[in-house]
Amino acid sequence: MTTTTDLVSYEDALASYDPVMGLEVHVELGTKTKMFCGCSTELGAEPNSQTCPVCLGLPGALPVVNATGVESAIKIGLALNCEIAEWCRFARKNYFYPDMPKNFQTSQYDEPIAFNGYLDVQLEDGETFRVEIERAHMEEDTGKSTHVGGATGRIHGASHSLLDYNRAGIPLIEIVTKPIEGAGERAPEVAKAYVRELREVIKALGVSEARMEMGQMRCDVNLSLRPHGTEKFGTRSETKNVNSLRSVERAARFEIQRHAAVLGGGGTIVQETRHFHEDTGSTTSGRVKEEAEDYRYFPEPDLVPVAPSREWVEEIRAGLPELPLVRRNRLVAEWGISATDMQAILNAGALDLIVATIDAGADAASARKWWMGELARSANESGTALD
Ligand code: ADP
Ligand code: MG
Ligand code: ZN
Repeated sequence: MTTTTDLVSYEDALASYDPVMGLEVHVELGTKTKMFCGCSTELGAEPNSQTCPVCLGLPGALPVVNATGVESAIKIGLALNCEIAEWCRFARKNYFYPDMPKNFQTSQYDEPIAFNGYLDVQLEDGETFRVEIERAHMEEDTGKSTHVGGATGRIHGASHSLLDYNRAGIPLIEIVTKPIEGAGERAPEVAKAYVRELREVIKALGVSEARMEMGQMRCDVNLSLRPHGTEKFGTRSETKNVNSLRSVERAARFEIQRHAAVLGGGGTIVQETRHFHEDTGSTTSGRVKEEAEDYRYFPEPDLVPVAPSREWVEEIRAGLPELPLVRRNRLVAEWGISATDMQAILNAGALDLIVATIDAGADAASARKWWMGELARSANESGTALD
């Protein structure tokens, strides 16, 4: 990257503008088989060994919905306090891309399985912020391309590209927030706290390991600014596939500073996708955003509608585990610690370890000291996960 981007300081940006965010999170489900065929989802297999006529999009192949995928989607919807559709359909999202062998993605469009929910997230100081959920819908992952022969691994300069369709058709749930308003200067912190809480929920439900570093969970950060005292949203940018909690926070922060510089200089923000760069903490322009109509969505004719009975939904609801925020609040009370102590435990990735140590016979205070002392410090210093 040789171009530099004009930025204003974070404080100056916030002095003039109010950020509005929208977070879109994709979660890869941990089902044994793909969303619409019986192919294995196991990682690390020989390229293209886990494919069949359905996930390769061969003519005449007919998809069948994975019931566990639907059940997982309902679990997520319920945990996010959503309504569950009594009847909904899949839709074809049409586009040509080499890692999409069918030339369309089977997704959901105006009939998501879950909608209208919220997730309460906890900030560093223990305060709670409610993030409203627009929808959670089912879709499938694409294949994976590898560009070979160039210096950068990008398509430019490569001599050829390799395609692996093992990932094509792996179930994804996309969770979209309503516009997040009112976070002010804490917007980047809210974004990070939301993705973290969502990850904890997904893990507690057991529907995915939600490991961001493995691409099992990734976040698109939509952000716009509006002048203080105005209602109308500004034009948003959409930073794609941000894959760590820290990066979610940094991407939001950078975009606030960049938007403020553009707007403050009398410019206009173009609606586009952007890429986040870990090394510099900056974003660069991707492509100008497609409109929904460019995808020519239409209902998928090869799949029957999904109409989960209310009995099934209630059965799933009754079987939900204790949700992470509830559990943390319970442990805060049981252990007699503060909300910020709990945040530190969470940040260190020590919660499950402490609980397991207590289950193995230690008392709560010693278990906490054991993990949060020397071990947490050296794990942090060496950049190793505590577990
Ligand atoms: P798309 O598929 O075009 O990205 P979605 O509706 O799926 O559209 O996602 C857009 C996300 O951005 C949602 O979370 C939405 O709440 C949020 N959003 C919409 N308009 C704005 C805006 N002007 N500024 C910030 N966020 C926005
Ligand atoms: Mg989007
Ligand atoms: Zn298949």
